[in-house]
Amino acid sequence: MSSSVNDVYLIRSSVREILDRYDSRYWAVKDEAREYPLEFIRDLESNGFMAANIPEEYGGAGYGLQVVSAVLEEIASSPGGSAASSSVHAAYFNNHILVRYGSAEAKSKYLPSIAQGELRFQVYAVTEPHAGFNTPRISTFARREGDYYILNGQKIFISRLKHSDLGIIAARTTPYDESPRKTHGITLFLVDLRKAKGKNVRYSEIPNNLRRFVDTSIVYIEDLEVPAENVIGDVDKGFYILMEESNVERALIASQCIGSGRWVIRRAVEYAKERVVFPPDPIAKYQGIQYPLADSWIRLEAGAALRDKALELIESKADRRLIGYYSNSAKYIACEACYNAARYSMWTMGGYGYSLDMDVERHWRAAELFAGVGQVSPHMILNYVATKILGMPRSYGD
Ligand SMILES: Cc1cc2nc3c(=O)[nH]c(=O)nc-3n(C[C@H](O)[C@H](O)[C@H](O)COP(=O)(O)OP(=O)(O)OC[C@H]3O[C@@H](n4cnc5c(N)ncnc54)[C@H](O)[C@@H]3O)c2cc1C
Repeated sequence: MSSSVNDVYLIRSSVREILDRYDSRYWAVKDEAREYPLEFIRDLESNGFMAANIPEEYGGAGYGLQVVSAVLEEIASSPGGSAASSSVHAAYFNNHILVRYGSAEAKSKYLPSIAQGELRFQVYAVTEPHAGFNTPRISTFARREGDYYILNGQKIFISRLKHSDLGIIAARTTPYDESPRKTHGITLFLVDLRKAKGKNVRYSEIPNNLRRFVDTSIVYIEDLEVPAENVIGDVDKGFYILMEESNVERALIASQCIGSGRWVIRRAVEYAKERVVFPPDPIAKYQGIQYPLADSWIRLEAGAALRDKALELIESKADRRLIGYYSNSAKYIACEACYNAARYSMWTMGGYGYSLDMDVERHWRAAELFAGVGQVSPHMILNYVATKILGMPRSYGD
């Protein structure tokens, strides 16, 4: 699937129309109340936005990743920031995986309802307490019994579970020690959470102050039955899907950071042009105010160029290593630039930057997650570039 420049332009203005209905006050209230922004999400769902990358034969719009990227960038470029785009982003990652690798049965059963906004597909559960970034070490296990798999295990830092109907869960189908390679033996499952929540899938929220309106939980999975037709891709080969799809996620997370970073800089520039401390000049005239904002802007634009290249390579099914290089680099530079942009924008606003009413500190809090461990950390990106691109030896693990 691909998207034309016209598609991207039209979708940007439609998202902005929706965002105009949710002002700064809306996001501040949700933030303070730690409440999932359901009204906003329902608005996106009922206007078909969650169907953007679902093929037309299943009732979606059939757009490619450039459109999805524009949607997420626009949402993050609002007072809600990248916390707002994170309240929906996994649906796009999940749709991409299901469309590419799901069975015909699972696609016809679920995609039309997801496209209609009747089912929310926002859970993507990979991380486990003892594995962290070492994904092959996950130990949630799926045992085959007739036409079903029975899942048992524990996940951590799983976002949006509270409000989702469907999700993707990664589990081992061959134990780590019995696998011919450590990357072998993981399988992905499409899981219907509606009846399972509170019974076979229990969760306990992890309170956090950085991204307050997106719930994140420890998840306990006990004897969860999943029909065999809900296996995504080939049994035991899910790790390779996770790796490939992580590039999509990294490029799309870069988009969110680009949207948020540009928004805070514009906000800071507006403020600086008005604020006079030592008359007659506004603080915008000081180079100490200008340089950090200009520097962050350049880095965001560099991130946008890398992101565009990553999306183009993904859509054209280019060489895997090249896709990995561009999507990792885009995430690395865009998310760091966003974090710095938010920080410098707060400095520009002096004490006022700390006020919830200015919206910038909300962007800054959410930016920390993506500049740090969210989805992939800068360490792991540098590991990837050093070993896979520069050909240096791996410094860790067996
Ligand atoms: C708010 C939030 C929401 C999340 N949502 C989800 C979700 O919905 N689904 C999901 O599956 N996961 C989710 N995650 C998990 C997240 O994406 C990371 O994958 C996870 O946090 C990493 O595991 P860990 O925290 O145990 O870190 P660890 O793996 O323990 O890493 C700790 C530190 O050590 C560094 N480190 C580890 N290994 C190496 C190495 N080889 N070389 C150099 N440095 C290294 C890391 O970079 C990091 O700085 C979420 C996390 C957070 C905080």
